[in-house]
Amino acid sequence: MWRSGDLRRPTVLVVEDEPDIADAVQARLEGEGFDVSVAIDGPAAVAAALHGSPDLIVLDLNLPGFDGLEVCRQVHAQKRIPVIMVTARDHESDMLVGLGLGADDYLTKPFSMRELVARIRVVLRRSATTEPTAATIEHAGLTLDTDRRLASYHGAHIHFTPTEFDLVRVLVEAQGGVLSREALLHRVWGYNDSNGSRTVDSHVRSIRRKTGDDLIRTVHGVGYAVSVAPDS
Ligand code: CA
Repeated sequence: MWRSGDLRRPTVLVVEDEPDIADAVQARLEGEGFDVSVAIDGPAAVAAALHGSPDLIVLDLNLPGFDGLEVCRQVHAQKRIPVIMVTARDHESDMLVGLGLGADDYLTKPFSMRELVARIRVVLRRSATTEPTAATIEHAGLTLDTDRRLASYHGAHIHFTPTEFDLVRVLVEAQGGVLSREALLHRVWGYNDSNGSRTVDSHVRSIRRKTGDDLIRTVHGVGYAVSVAPDS
């Protein structure tokens, strides 16, 4: 499941202030072959993320010190580390803010360990640069360097999160073809979930905040597509 030749165990930082949950998650992830470290409050999470450079952070939202959104903000100001946000709050607004801040996925407590592991593997697979050769995709003013995962739009560098990059790439590769939210969810996130269409919508909103509204068009009742001309 990890590419051959990559013998290093992936590292996961688990940020969780409830000891029972932290212990259970750590034990399960170690059993799945991850190197796991744990932080129990906001400031410790930021320090561990910046010094330890984990491959991924499983980030509880409600934390002592400061919350997971602030952790995300401070970490991503310095390093692009994929984040799976875990929230006990059943508030969509928190989730949307989290995704807007660069969380790649989210889980609502209580979650199953099996689902957590599956989500971690998807996010890690997506964030790994596995392409052996540089490839550049250009479309309507957008340039994607899929090897270095860099993007620019009309000459200006755009910083996409790993998930946003993959979402844009899938749309661009469809060359203007319309993809349903379900298809995007399946191809970018790797799972089918009827509630997940909101995840797609919030990522599209985040992308539009960076590129403006012209790049990705909404096809009402169907899904999303890239515009076929820059100013259409
Ligand atoms: Ca908590």
